[in-house]
Order: sequence, then C-alpha cells, then structure tokens
Amino acid sequence: MLITHDTQCALDVLVDLLNTAPEAAGQEGLPDLAALRDFVVRHEISEVGTLGTDDLDAVRRVRTQFRAVFLARSTQAAAELVNTLVAQAGSTPRLTDHDGHDWHMHFFAPCAALADHLAVEAGMALAFIVVAGERERLRRCEAPDCARVFVDLSRNRSRRYCDSRTCGNRMHVAAYRARQRTAAESPDALTEAAAR
Ligand SMILES: [Zn+2]
Ligand SMILES: [Zn+2]
Repeated sequence: MLITHDTQCALDVLVDLLNTAPEAAGQEGLPDLAALRDFVVRHEISEVGTLGTDDLDAVRRVRTQFRAVFLARSTQAAAELVNTLVAQAGSTPRLTDHDGHDWHMHFFAPCAALADHLAVEAGMALAFIVVAGERERLRRCEAPDCARVFVDLSRNRSRRYCDSRTCGNRMHVAAYRARQRTAAESPDALTEAAAR
C-alpha cells in the first residue's frame, strides 16, 4: 500500500486519539486540559495555540465522529463521514518546511483550533486510505473485551488485534489453551501433536 510518511503520522495520531475514548479505553483518556496538552506534545502537533476547555470538548466531539469512520459498514458511509469532518473544519492546503522538516503538506487552516486541525489532518489521511481502496484496513480490535481501533498496515491485511500488547498475546494464549483442551479430550490429536 502506498501511503506517505505524513499520512502514516496522521493516522498514528488519530488512532492514539480514538483509543483515549471511554468506549475504547474503559475510561476517559483525555479527562482534562493537562491530558490534552500531553497529547499535543507527545505527537509534536504544530501550530497549536493556548488550549481551553472549549478545545477539550471539541476534540472529544471530533473523536466520536472519527470513531464512526472506523466502525462504518461501507466505504460510502466512511466517505460521507470523512467529507463532513473535513468540511466542518475548513481546509487550507499549503506547503511548509517548518521546524527543519522536509517540505510537506499541511491541510488545516493557519491558526485553526486544535479540533479542526486534527479533523482536517486525520480526515485527509483517511481520505487517502479510501482513495487507495484500503478502507477495510481501518479496524476495530477483535478481542471480545476490547473496543480499541487500529490501522492494519500488514502486507496481507491479516492483523486482528490492536497493539495494546495484551490483546494479541491474550488471544494467542486463549487459542493455545483451546487447542490443548481439544488435544486432551482427543488422545489421537495429542499423539499427532507430539509426533510433529
Ligand atoms: Zn508539519
Ligand atoms: Zn485490543
């Protein structure tokens, strides 16, 4: 899949944002302005002015809208959600080489509020994924007790679990135990397994 480094970065920010949501994390991962500031610093989000509680509310609203893109049943539905997100935020595509980075595109309007900034940059990254015919890579973790989302960038689109570390391992252990149980119930299978 051909996605640029910038798109990849924007998707990383988005996935991290989505997984702060109570429905994904079990609790609010952005409980206050300090948490929102941490998020901005952690992801080196540029051109962010002073943040207020309005920003916190707006970012949470955008987060809810983006989660719907990952859970969308069809590309049509995902495309409409992305269009709405980008349109409501307003976009000003421009070239920049800020902070010593190579020339790259910023899509958010100069001095945009943080929520609009995130909506446009993540919205454009998702737009590129849709255009590339890769919308199905936007996934929800398949572990039954996990609601985190991720972007499956594996070559054969085979990833099933989020990268919270525990999910993949936990599910592999569960599958291993299930195989052992089956083997114990069926001595033939056990002998076959031992013979391998
Ligand atoms: Zn930049
Ligand atoms: Zn998970």
